[in-house]
Amino acid sequence: MKVAVLAGGVGGARLSQGLYRILPRDLTVIVNTGDDFQLHGLSISPDLDTVLYTLAEWADPVQGWGLQGDTQTCAQQLARLGGETWFRLGDLDLATHLFRTQRLSQGASLTQVTAELARSAGLQLQLLPMCDAPVPTKLRLATGWVDFQDYFVRRQHADPVLECRYQGADQTPPSSAVLEALKNAERIVLAPSNPFLSLQPIFSLQGFESLWAGCPARKVAVSPMIGEAAVKGPLASLLASLGHPVNSLGIAQLLRKWVDVLILDESDSALVPEIEKLGIQAICTPSLMKTTEDRERLAQVALHV
Ligand code: GDP
Ligand code: CA
Repeated sequence: MKVAVLAGGVGGARLSQGLYRILPRDLTVIVNTGDDFQLHGLSISPDLDTVLYTLAEWADPVQGWGLQGDTQTCAQQLARLGGETWFRLGDLDLATHLFRTQRLSQGASLTQVTAELARSAGLQLQLLPMCDAPVPTKLRLATGWVDFQDYFVRRQHADPVLECRYQGADQTPPSSAVLEALKNAERIVLAPSNPFLSLQPIFSLQGFESLWAGCPARKVAVSPMIGEAAVKGPLASLLASLGHPVNSLGIAQLLRKWVDVLILDESDSALVPEIEKLGIQAICTPSLMKTTEDRERLAQVALHV
């Protein structure tokens, strides 16, 4: 079965790893690039790298992003020199950004560079950025609009978000590889990624709605909320500040026009009747992915519901 996944960083990477164990050759992972930015002249794609490192089994198992065994020697020296250190790049991680920046400067597309990185990591699946042009996410806080990394890293996502914007998305189509993968997919899975920061940037791309409507695949999402908390990150506070229920019902309301099925945690079964009133099927199962076995089991559910 050909499967396409829409993913952000950590939640996207975890479910993608489960799917990859089941379908090593028939999987395409389409990744948000709204978090991408430039630092020290380098092109950084945090969500692509999280997915790459997780699938290659290079990721730091504790934090879920970054490289296992990475060090901060360069960052320490940069601090000594008075350089910008609010976003600390590990020594091993730097190699990825150097490679990407160099290849982009030679005229390769982000799609090409990502394929090269995936091949070097020994991956058989297709790893795709959502598009090739920059579509930076901007967030409105009480103090005004800020860049995504300013909100997420510099301010440690402590400020309530009042509005999200995906700059340039309406003039940027998904790449042709993304179009192809979605059209040919027999199933499309929305990973338990942040709907505002990881999925909506993809949905906002030019022509995406009509592309989606023309995809014959069954569309299944996994909720990133368990009870009233996100497994990780600022999702609960985003749901609250943007006026949605802070649980999987809020996720269902946001995703109802995009999916046929929502998989939610078994502890949230009381929400099923309200979710099904929205016209989508709700399936309950344990949804916390700690081990690779958890990831594979949840992936099996996403492939078979
Ligand atoms: P980010 O770029 O790292 O923020 O990545 P994503 O948008 O892909 O993922 C963030 C979301 O993943 C958070 O809202 C988490 O709640 C969710 N998430 C992370 N791990 C798990 C898990 O094991 N199970 C579920 N259901 N959600 C998870
Ligand atoms: Ca991200």
